[in-house]
Amino acid sequence: MSIDELTFRDTAIPWNPISLSGLLDIIGATNMIIIMKTGTERDVITPVIARIEELGLQAHPIIGEGQAIVGVVGLPLPPSLDEMFEVMPGVERVVRVSKKYKLAGWDFHPQKTVIRIDDVEIGSDEVTVIAGPCSVESEEQVMESARAVKALGAKLLRGGAYKPRTSPYEFRGMGVKGLEILATAREETGLKIITEVMTPSDVEVVGQYTDIFQIGARNCQNYLLLEEVGKANKPVMLKRGLSLLIEEWLLAAEYVMAQGNPNVILCERGIRTFENATRNTLDVSAVPVLQSMSHLPVFIDPSHAAGKRPLVGALALAGVAAGADGLMIEVHPNPDLAMSDGAQSLDFDEFAALMPKISAVSQAVGRSLPIPAGAGV
Ligand code: PEP
Ligand code: MN
Repeated sequence: MSIDELTFRDTAIPWNPISLSGLLDIIGATNMIIIMKTGTERDVITPVIARIEELGLQAHPIIGEGQAIVGVVGLPLPPSLDEMFEVMPGVERVVRVSKKYKLAGWDFHPQKTVIRIDDVEIGSDEVTVIAGPCSVESEEQVMESARAVKALGAKLLRGGAYKPRTSPYEFRGMGVKGLEILATAREETGLKIITEVMTPSDVEVVGQYTDIFQIGARNCQNYLLLEEVGKANKPVMLKRGLSLLIEEWLLAAEYVMAQGNPNVILCERGIRTFENATRNTLDVSAVPVLQSMSHLPVFIDPSHAAGKRPLVGALALAGVAAGADGLMIEVHPNPDLAMSDGAQSLDFDEFAALMPKISAVSQAVGRSLPIPAGAGV
């Protein structure tokens, strides 16, 4: 008897022998496997099968001596399905084969995403640096910053015109005037710009100015906002929520992508832990973990993780060493006078000293970061 002639009991209710290749076909197509407890009787398995079929999915029970598993075939599988089956009588464990994050994951997108904005590439071999002040404060401050960071090799200028602040009494941004200043800086320097949008009703106006929408950590799970930027035709940088699991973060990216916008950048900016020596704890491991789960470009924001200027450089270098596609660094002409996040903002000299180091680490890990001639310390 050849191995293919071996029979297995598929759908034991009713008894239905299948060949090995039939079994492998089922397993290959299975999106979820429900493992029943040892010794579970068929009358306990039947409601599990019925529930699967009620959901419009196919059930493939495979029943052996005292052991049974039920393959679930069909997409999409609602994310809550695992929990629904886990609490059913007789169920030992549910193993999801297909990912919850279909668009952000590698399964249906085997190539790494490279986002192109004219001549700027994000996610290619080149490490991309975004730099600039936390907030847009004045035209002079932004223009000075833009010229300085461009001369040192940054490709994009950052600056918030709408600022999420922990206290409502702090500076909350210049609004449209701030967007106009950023656009002026783009015109003069050629740098692309990225700025935060905080609410769905601002997506249109921010989209008239920015090259990339920034979704801040506090809004990472603001699903209506995510859907709104998902409908806009511009890349989105999604900063990790303060206490977000990586899978939840990818599901947030999925909200943007499900609206038809594939250009999402994930930015690790530190998470909240028990440690308070830094503002947040930079999860460097998020870089390789995300890259194993998703084709989307991954950035590190060392500034909001560190919270303190002297720590920013080390975290930036660690991010690039871990394989980040880019960095977003706060740089201010005079950090001591900054209206937000001055303590973590580098001055131009500090940024100038850091860029060649970032370039060297980029090369050490097989990437590049060209520094314009004449730039430096
Ligand atoms: C910012 O980039 O200035 C900012 C507010 O970041 P986060 O949303 O990560 O706190
Ligand atoms: Mn900031």
